[in-house]
Amino acid sequence: MAYTDEDLAFVFNRASGKCIYCGDALIRESYEQPWKPRAWEVDHFIPLANGGADQPENWVPACVNCKAFKGGGLPWEFLPGRFKQGERDPQSYLAAKKPGPENVAGE
Ligand SMILES: [Zn+2]
Repeated sequence: MAYTDEDLAFVFNRASGKCIYCGDALIRESYEQPWKPRAWEVDHFIPLANGGADQPENWVPACVNCKAFKGGGLPWEFLPGRFKQGERDPQSYLAAKKPGPENVAGE
């Protein structure tokens, strides 16, 4: 799946440029270039096969190692200490809130 530059900027920035799983700092320009330092990919927080949406709210930045280890698994299976079982929204684990008019405050 191809992401636009805008998509990638959104995914990267809302996690403050860090892997959502291990917290390592990533380099924006190393996207999908695993031979470069601090390379990263877009991960579906909830895998599509588990009903995750192919939508920005389900996209998170993951370093290539975490992406490989997580595979198609669920976040709380991959890192049970970090993610609450059944928590399908990555927002609370991200450092930055989603910017812009789509950010509906309050619920
Ligand atoms: Zn990582």
